[in-house]
Amino acid sequence: MKQIIDRFLRLSEQGKLLFDEPLAPYSSFKIGGPADVLAKPDTQKDLIDLLIYAIKREIPWFILGKGSNLLIGDKGIRGLVISMEGFNKITRDENYVSAFAGQSLKELCRFCMEEGLSGLEFACGIPGSVGGAVFMNAGAYEGEIKDVLYCSKCLTPTLKSLQSTNPILHLKKEAHMFSYRHSALQDRGLIHLSSVFKLSPAPRVDILKRMEELDQMRNDKQPMDMPSAGSVFKRPPGHFTGKLVDDCGLRGFRIGGASISNKHCGFIVNLGGATAKDVKDLIEHVQSTVYERFKVHLETEIRQVGEM
Ligand SMILES: Cc1cc2nc3c(=O)[nH]c(=O)nc-3n(C[C@H](O)[C@H](O)[C@H](O)COP(=O)(O)OP(=O)(O)OC[C@H]3O[C@@H](n4cnc5c(N)ncnc54)[C@H](O)[C@@H]3O)c2cc1C
Repeated sequence: MKQIIDRFLRLSEQGKLLFDEPLAPYSSFKIGGPADVLAKPDTQKDLIDLLIYAIKREIPWFILGKGSNLLIGDKGIRGLVISMEGFNKITRDENYVSAFAGQSLKELCRFCMEEGLSGLEFACGIPGSVGGAVFMNAGAYEGEIKDVLYCSKCLTPTLKSLQSTNPILHLKKEAHMFSYRHSALQDRGLIHLSSVFKLSPAPRVDILKRMEELDQMRNDKQPMDMPSAGSVFKRPPGHFTGKLVDDCGLRGFRIGGASISNKHCGFIVNLGGATAKDVKDLIEHVQSTVYERFKVHLETEIRQVGEM
């Protein structure tokens, strides 16, 4: 126990254990109240000890990537929020690239391009971390994480597993059970530590050209200059969300500081000062309007956490 407290004190002295820390700066929406405690461990041992400490005392905990797919409540998140930003290494072994959970996905794509490895071009404009991308099976432009993922290392957040001599769970690709914006990590509540991606050698200029094309397409169609959390809703089978929302006359529709983007009706943007409640009310308004008109249910892709 003393050792654990000493390590927590060290984290605190290093500014890696913050109390009542506002979470808006950690979310791409720029919305969210405070975390009771925000921890930023950068060793596996500290991460495991934080989890053990919380689980033993029944303190709720939440894993934060780069906050680009989250609507964090106005009253914040109770208990412990663990940011994975301290885990951010990339290494290459032949055609395999390994990346830690907190690594930026965009930087990983850039690394692969510089190494002349193709496969991750589709992801070059997706904000967020590697852990968040694997957890969400992030995808764009006909590509998904599942197409390039080889294997991952995770933690099972139970006392029995975390206190065992080897707490690391090795997941082969099939065990991720990937489907559209879904992975087994969501069902099993696993904590992602790192993944290996299997890529193919290709000329750097070709990879860069494709990345630039995709960036251009994204900038042309999406409101990349405004705070948002990307597409709010999953794509309903046989439909395009943006068109359904537009056909309901909701382009630019506002509640408080939250608005349906004028550029892409599948996005909600924060015009400045939007609350989580504004966004939540707008989501519900869109869902009920689209359902009334087209009998299509829009399921949210963004994840709501904390108290609204
Ligand atoms: C402008 C914009 C454009 C976007 N475009 C796309 C797109 O084209 N395609 C797409 O798929 N997404 C897109 N997104 C959404 C978002 O970028 C992705 O979902 C991204 O993968 C989320 O990663 P994150 O690190 O930000 O996760 P967070 O938002 O921090 O978390 C998302 C979920 O993942 C969990 N999580 C995060 N890290 C871990 C971990 N290490 N272990 C366990 N759980 C973890 C969190 O608990 C949470 O439940 C976009 C977002 C924005 C703002």
